[in-house]
Amino acid sequence: MEVPFINFEPMHNEIRDEIIEAFKKVYDRNWFILGESVEKFEKNFLKFCNTDYCISCGNGLDALCLILRGYDIGVGDEVIVPSNTYIATALAVSNVGAKVVLVEPDIKTFNIDVNKIEEAITKRTKAIIAVHLYGRPVEVDKVRVLCEKYNLKFIEDAAQAHGAIYKGEKIGSLGDAAGFSFYPGKNLGALGDGGAILTSDIVLAQKVRALRNYGSNIKYHNEYKGVNSRLDEIQAEFLIVKLRYLYKWNNERQKIARLYIERINNSKLILPDLNLVKESVWHVFPLRTECRNELKQYLKDKGIGTLIHYPIPIHLQKAYKDLGYKLGDFPIAEEISTTVLSLPMWYGMSEDEVNYVIDVLNQW
Ligand SMILES: *Cc1c(COP(=O)(O)O)cnc(C)c1O
Repeated sequence: MEVPFINFEPMHNEIRDEIIEAFKKVYDRNWFILGESVEKFEKNFLKFCNTDYCISCGNGLDALCLILRGYDIGVGDEVIVPSNTYIATALAVSNVGAKVVLVEPDIKTFNIDVNKIEEAITKRTKAIIAVHLYGRPVEVDKVRVLCEKYNLKFIEDAAQAHGAIYKGEKIGSLGDAAGFSFYPGKNLGALGDGGAILTSDIVLAQKVRALRNYGSNIKYHNEYKGVNSRLDEIQAEFLIVKLRYLYKWNNERQKIARLYIERINNSKLILPDLNLVKESVWHVFPLRTECRNELKQYLKDKGIGTLIHYPIPIHLQKAYKDLGYKLGDFPIAEEISTTVLSLPMWYGMSEDEVNYVIDVLNQW
């Protein structure tokens, strides 16, 4: 049996007619940038996340950059990010000219270790970007307390956590602002690139809305040196369709995750602790093992696709050699990068496919 790491086919077959209608709507309207579809999606998405403002943009990296620029964070400032996140979180900080300050994750949840944040805070620290990695909400309450104590902005990187819930509240409504990505592989994905900023801060919302469109709210009147980072009308219309299914698709991911956790039974594998990640929307299903590369090859030979999220931590990336770090500086991020492996996780996986993955892992 072949079980790919990801397969969009079942999801896209189910919504095929609606997506084609969405395409026709925009095509026949002949209005492609910043129009009624973008407005409607922004309204739907802010309602979904239960916050006040939604400003869509070109991608998730831009969403984070725009938030930082909106808060005037730049050269001379420091921003805290987890040492094991996807590179985009750090790039957002670098792209606005601020310094990336890495804080280790908790090896059980893979999310930033809230007990290690305080020692990384300096006079220059302006914000914490808390990443809900793999779809798992971070310990929001503890991040909030620190942000209040030190007067920092609490920015959520929610690129992997559309629809996740923390103590009854939606991810994206928990900090000062949140950045989302609609890259096709995310839990809510466009058919191309896309992103959004959510916030309840009206000042930030107005500034970011201008920044994404050349720094202009009124055509040809430019208040800021902005960028061009907009969600296309066509992608917005696709996202309006897909948002309606997000609960269903996330539920299915949660069902698959529960089956994996309940039935994978192999002492060589460290599985997620369901009690710690109950509200995860399982953007990926990670497990850990000392013999990760062997396991990856074994699964490949059995027709099962896997990926590593992520094989090289930020401090060991060539792009960040200016930070001056070496192997051993962030041991937990390094440990995760050498032991973590993500199993197939997509809407429409059949019971047979899930059981096959489980059986093959149990026979290893
Ligand atoms: C995908 C992702 C981003 C960036 O989103 P893009 O739309 O690809 O630019 C940022 N942060 C995290 C954690 C992500 O997974």
